[in-house]
Amino acid sequence: MGERQRKVHGIMVCLPFQGHLNPFVSLALKLASKGFAITFVHLEFLYRKLRDAHHANETDVDFFSGARELGLDIRFTTMADCFPLEFDRDANFPEYWETMARDFPALADEFVGNVVSSEPDMIHFLVTDTIHNWPAAVARKYNLVNVSLWTQPALVYCLAYHWDLLEQNGHFPCKDDVEEEIKYVPGVESINTKDLMHYLKESQFGSVPTRMMRLVFEQAKTADFVLQNTVEELEPQTLSALHKYLPNYAIGPLNFSKNLPTNTVTKSLWSESDCTDWLESKPPASVLYVSFGSFLHTNKQVLEELAYGLVLSEVDFVWVIRRGILGHGETSLLPTGFQDAVRERGLILAWCDQIKVLSNPAVGGFLTHCGWNSTLESMWSGVPMICYPFEHDQPCNRKLVVDDWENGVNLCEDYGSLDREQVAHKIKSFMNEGVSGKNAGRVRQVMQNAVEIDGSSERNFDRFVKDLEAKIHAQN
Ligand code: UDP
Repeated sequence: MGERQRKVHGIMVCLPFQGHLNPFVSLALKLASKGFAITFVHLEFLYRKLRDAHHANETDVDFFSGARELGLDIRFTTMADCFPLEFDRDANFPEYWETMARDFPALADEFVGNVVSSEPDMIHFLVTDTIHNWPAAVARKYNLVNVSLWTQPALVYCLAYHWDLLEQNGHFPCKDDVEEEIKYVPGVESINTKDLMHYLKESQFGSVPTRMMRLVFEQAKTADFVLQNTVEELEPQTLSALHKYLPNYAIGPLNFSKNLPTNTVTKSLWSESDCTDWLESKPPASVLYVSFGSFLHTNKQVLEELAYGLVLSEVDFVWVIRRGILGHGETSLLPTGFQDAVRERGLILAWCDQIKVLSNPAVGGFLTHCGWNSTLESMWSGVPMICYPFEHDQPCNRKLVVDDWENGVNLCEDYGSLDREQVAHKIKSFMNEGVSGKNAGRVRQVMQNAVEIDGSSERNFDRFVKDLEAKIHAQN
């Protein structure tokens, strides 16, 4: 069979976090809609978590059967990670990732090797999340084109890409208590050291995230293609500077790509509570949505100050408090009497369909940890943000939202500790005066244009597909 007739097949290995899974699923559907065959791979423990949350009575669930019925060639499978299924990965995060960084590459190598040898009639390529430390070696070994999906803003990619430059200038490890403007990173006009990712800070030096991210970025440079879940018009300078170093395509916001059967795929790691009826009893733009995403842990003091702040603000709110947000073994999350104090003004949920909540007209603001998906989803819905970042990319995302796009405000200045009176004052004035309806509308328009058929993200995706096909055929 001639090379041009052989089916081209993407092996996609997902990272087991909600904020990575959502855009990765959209990318799988997008690639399949362009005629590629796809094998979507979940880690076995994540598959079970999803299945138990949504398909409790079934034993064998194929999350992509709905997409296949619509004509897309997506197969679904799972693979083991380095731990037994019952091991609590969330509660033992450092141990889990330390072991994964060391032992998972061999498992991934074996897994990909088996797929390649079991399907000799297809030409294979690899699509992985940038935060995997094994794809470069595996792609080389099996002669696969290596596509990397970055699920955070290009700004963060660019800073981590120039890790050595930061080190040469004394900003890695970056002193925790020093505030300086960094103006030497190509594509980043200026960023204050306080807004850098937490894994670049001195207090994290030697930690698992720091070592893992450095490893990841050493090998990310060898990817054949980097897909960025951002929008060209939002980060033009950074993206264009990155073009000088790597084939780089802004194709976001992936969660809002058009004409994809995303609703046929189970993605939410927890079952969702529906608060539509409650929201519909509220006036337009009157409700504050509060959520800190799927991953981070915080402490009781933060939750208490927020809780009292919400009570004192007198604003209506929906607050998602994920089970496990305080770490394990902690059961009482909120101050005694909190629910009585807020009564029908406040709704506490363990998890929801965030995109649905943000798109409800009753929601007028989002108090967020600035996870990148949450940021994109809020901007997509035209909902301005109160930003309270904790770690990873979140401080950089705050800078983009508040300082560059003027689409949000800080909950407190300089990542300081929370005080309930200040929290109440900030929430009250934000919900009464808004941040700037004009900016929320402008950013929303930019994002919505990008995913139109002639929008920048769609054009970039088409360009990527052409370049990918050319590279695959040149290499095989
Ligand atoms: N999310 C959700 N329901 C919730 C809270 C969050 O569906 O109650 C989703 C949200 O829509 C987003 C993802 O979880 O797509 C969180 O990703 P993000 O990058 O914002 O933060 P992370 O969880 O990675 O810190």
